[in-house]
Amino acid sequence: MISFKSVNKWYGDFQVLKNINLDIAKGEVVVVCGPSGSGKSTMIRCINRLEPIQDGDITVDGMNVSDPRTNMTLLRAEVGFVFQQFNLYPHMTVIDNITLAPTMVRGMSRGEATAIGMELLKKVDIPDKAGAYPSQLSGGQQQRVAIARGLAMQPKIMLFDEPTSALDPEMINEVLDVMKSLAREGMTMICVTHEMGFAREVADRVIFMDEGLLIEQNTPEEFFNNPQSDRTKDFLSKIL
Ligand code: ADP
Ligand code: MG
Repeated sequence: MISFKSVNKWYGDFQVLKNINLDIAKGEVVVVCGPSGSGKSTMIRCINRLEPIQDGDITVDGMNVSDPRTNMTLLRAEVGFVFQQFNLYPHMTVIDNITLAPTMVRGMSRGEATAIGMELLKKVDIPDKAGAYPSQLSGGQQQRVAIARGLAMQPKIMLFDEPTSALDPEMINEVLDVMKSLAREGMTMICVTHEMGFAREVADRVIFMDEGLLIEQNTPEEFFNNPQSDRTKDFLSKIL
């Protein structure tokens, strides 16, 4: 579903991604961890060309991200993205936030988009918040709206960039629970997160990055119990 082949990326003179090779199958749940500044956000932002790469290839569901002939609207519609900061439109209600892209980009009728949006609000466990504005919601509720908004485009892939890092501790689990149920339903997911309980419970694979390199990848069991690289061991000793 997602493939990185010898991907290199620079910001000016600074090489942020170094020869990244990665294949993610349909339905796979991959957790990406690593120190701040190691290139995690950059790597996942390259998947829908929020950031361009200078070398190598990324393909998403058979589409080459760097090929100028690729229909980026179509590609982006297949990839839902949830950020650390929820990025909801503050002047729009919850349901309008969710139905905006499906009506504008997918050309869905307002009625159909609203019906799907209401189902998604049930799924993220806030069925009664359709008419609320983001400022009236807690951080955990806003992030669940952001997930519902991502799902409204009926994507094949969901990318999460530290979705719980901006939340008060008591709201982290309600967001992780929504992500866990998505994972169990077979969504292809890449989650940048330091929630290692989540990784142990639902990840098929954990990836460790440091200084732009993909240092190590393994099943959660092997990754946590038997880390191979000294860098991984050092990182785990600091966060566990
Ligand atoms: P992570 O998500 O692992 O914390 P990032 O991908 O955000 O890492 O950043 C990796 C490195 O690239 C950092 O050193 C960061 O300062 C740098 N960087 C990120 N975005 C930009 C940018 N737009 N321009 C220049 N440098 C950037
Ligand atoms: Mg980041």
